Amino acid sequence: MSITSINPVNGSIIKSYTADSEEAVLTKIESANAVWPSWSAVSFKEKEALLKHTAVILRKGKNELAHLMALEMGKPLQGGLDEIEKCATVCEYYAASGATHLADQLIETEASKSYVSFQPLGIVLAIMPWNFPFWQVFRFLAPGLMAGNCGLLKHASNVPGCALAIEKVLLDAGFPEHVFQTLMVDSKIAQKVIAHPLVKAVTLTGSTAAGMQVAKQAAGLLKKSVLELGGSDPYLILDDADLESAAEICAQSRLINNGQSCIAAKRFIVTAGVEAEFTALFTEKMASRVTGDPLTQGTDLGPIARANLRDELHQQVMDNIKKGAKCILGGVIPDFDGDHAFYGPTILSGVKKGMPAYDQEIFGPVATIISAKNTAEAIFIANDTSFGLGSAVFTTNIAEGERIARTALQAGSAFVNAMVKSDPRLPFGGINQSGYGRELGLYGIHEFVNIKTVYIK
Ligand code: NAP
Repeated sequence: MSITSINPVNGSIIKSYTADSEEAVLTKIESANAVWPSWSAVSFKEKEALLKHTAVILRKGKNELAHLMALEMGKPLQGGLDEIEKCATVCEYYAASGATHLADQLIETEASKSYVSFQPLGIVLAIMPWNFPFWQVFRFLAPGLMAGNCGLLKHASNVPGCALAIEKVLLDAGFPEHVFQTLMVDSKIAQKVIAHPLVKAVTLTGSTAAGMQVAKQAAGLLKKSVLELGGSDPYLILDDADLESAAEICAQSRLINNGQSCIAAKRFIVTAGVEAEFTALFTEKMASRVTGDPLTQGTDLGPIARANLRDELHQQVMDNIKKGAKCILGGVIPDFDGDHAFYGPTILSGVKKGMPAYDQEIFGPVATIISAKNTAEAIFIANDTSFGLGSAVFTTNIAEGERIARTALQAGSAFVNAMVKSDPRLPFGGINQSGYGRELGLYGIHEFVNIKTVYIK
């Protein structure tokens, strides 16, 4: 069996990779298990040095790695360079703060000494998506390896080159062999890996449907899981918002990675007093983005990562129009050469409950405008979703914005007058069907450790 990467710009085959046989997967699991005792005993100082060196290797190879992403999943070069830089910063963050996050915590009791110690779990399987093919993996591996775990990666089937490149970056940085390994497998074999007794935990970043299957399996085996799933992030634009700034931030957030980001703004809930003006400004900004070859300078939006995903996206747009939504920008498959997966910026307005864009995640450059009578109704609509990943509110009343962000929006993060983004220093994750558990920051490094109580009489 093979795993093939296909260029979404024109449908051409980039490369075919031989998939790992079940025996080869078993050997990788066993070799991770063999190296784990010595790896978990490596000092924080040595792990810090390895992570710092990983950042150096990433920056050195950034052009090549960005090029690989452009080929395999269509990310424009600048986006790829930014992604590699972010991977370097998460390595540096955990190099600088990992030991502090994992230091013993003394707790006074009647014992002569009692404390909490953070011990590694062993082998953790990471099942990852293609949209940020380096970042999603590094935000798992930097804290995971710092904590003394070994990592196995099952990457999305359309980015095998990126998966192997990540393994090579770590080896080049000096990590011992088998501490982090890529498995060239499909999701059926991934299920066997989850079931293997030496694999102690699993983290999945991906769709809610995949998350539910993996969660069910992990729960049945009593294995720890972290799930970073889909989202349909609401951005509230209130009557007193700075509309020029809000429109620019909203367009940027909707179109990040060509709209293929879990925390891209997806539903724009606009109060009645500013809907017409916001829509005009927002449309202008969305329309100004250039769609084209990700390898060409000046391209803002590359293709969707796979042709079948673009077709599903277009179908979602059509389903909304059939149900009464108005398409005020885009909504057509561009007339480019070749068997491509392009889709330009699109805006659906007049979206109401019962239309797919109200309830489902739209994973592409398609914005949904929903009208609200007032702030209270905007908050109600924002929370009228099965998801709960990010959210944002735009208002010049900062105190009111903070109140809405802190207590009213039901999501893993809420931003005021800014686009939702992840930051190595801050926890990241969702609630409800956006998943559970946290990555990044202090909370991220505590997900895959044994929070052990030590008590000495
Ligand atoms: P996907 O189809 O769910 O795939 C994600 C990964 O899961 C891939 O490696 C896939 O393998 C694997 N997979 C799928 N079903 C599986 C199963 N039953 N058992 C084991 N593995 C399974 O998602 P995607 O299309 O790559 O990514 C888009 C989705 O990810 C969106 O919903 C997006 O919102 C979400 N996402 C969430 C976050 C977050 O942090 N919350 C970040 C990025 C993306 P194959 O490729 O081999 O099918």
